[in-house]
Amino acid sequence: MTREINAKELVLGIVNVIDENKAWLSEIDGAVGDGDHGINMAKGLSMVRADLNRQPDDLGSLLSYMGMTLLTHIGGAMGPIYGTFFMKMGKAVQGKKELEIADVSNMLTGALEGVVGRGGAEVGDKTLVDTLSAAKGAFEKAAKSGKDLGESIDEMMAAAKRGMESTKDMVAKKGRSSRLGERSKGTIDAGAASCYLILTSMGESITQYL
Ligand code: ADP
Ligand code: MG
Repeated sequence: MTREINAKELVLGIVNVIDENKAWLSEIDGAVGDGDHGINMAKGLSMVRADLNRQPDDLGSLLSYMGMTLLTHIGGAMGPIYGTFFMKMGKAVQGKKELEIADVSNMLTGALEGVVGRGGAEVGDKTLVDTLSAAKGAFEKAAKSGKDLGESIDEMMAAAKRGMESTKDMVAKKGRSSRLGERSKGTIDAGAASCYLILTSMGESITQYL
């Protein structure tokens, strides 16, 4: 169980980490795509930041609002995908002020099911699904083996990093970069990288309140 989560701080952590890394995210997207991933994400999230004071304080509502904003305002492949990611996370913790293992598990499960349902990507397709699926799997494995919430989140963050890195040698099967075929190998996937940054920021925000 966590002490009461500061939901706005958690959301701002995500906005900031993407803003700080937007040049890198666009650079790796540019190796196999059109080089706009960091800009797309930062633009959508800056709208979240601008409107944050007018939003309710609870985590479920804020994450849902974030999803709606990204869905409406991000161009390219990512609007519907990250829109669903955050809306499903919000739904999983509706009305919760403190998080337990089951809540974080439901957030990760909801996000993964939402993203796969929306975009149809599987593990190995070189997308954010490679990060998210690894993170969810490691979190559940750790929790099942008796680790507490903080330890399980640490395992989740380490697996998110491995998931992101695993995309480097993959051939893209979804989205713009899939047009390159074998030539899409050699760079980590931009969406897998933003997903790693987002999950790490969320994990750090949650463990701060343990
Ligand atoms: P665009 O490809 O429209 O320029 P972005 O550059 O913002 O959009 O995002 C590219 C990222 O989108 C990729 O790195 C990949 O992770 C993700 N992506 C693309 N298609 C899918 C899909 N069908 N399912 C999941 N993720 C996808
Ligand atoms: Mg792009």
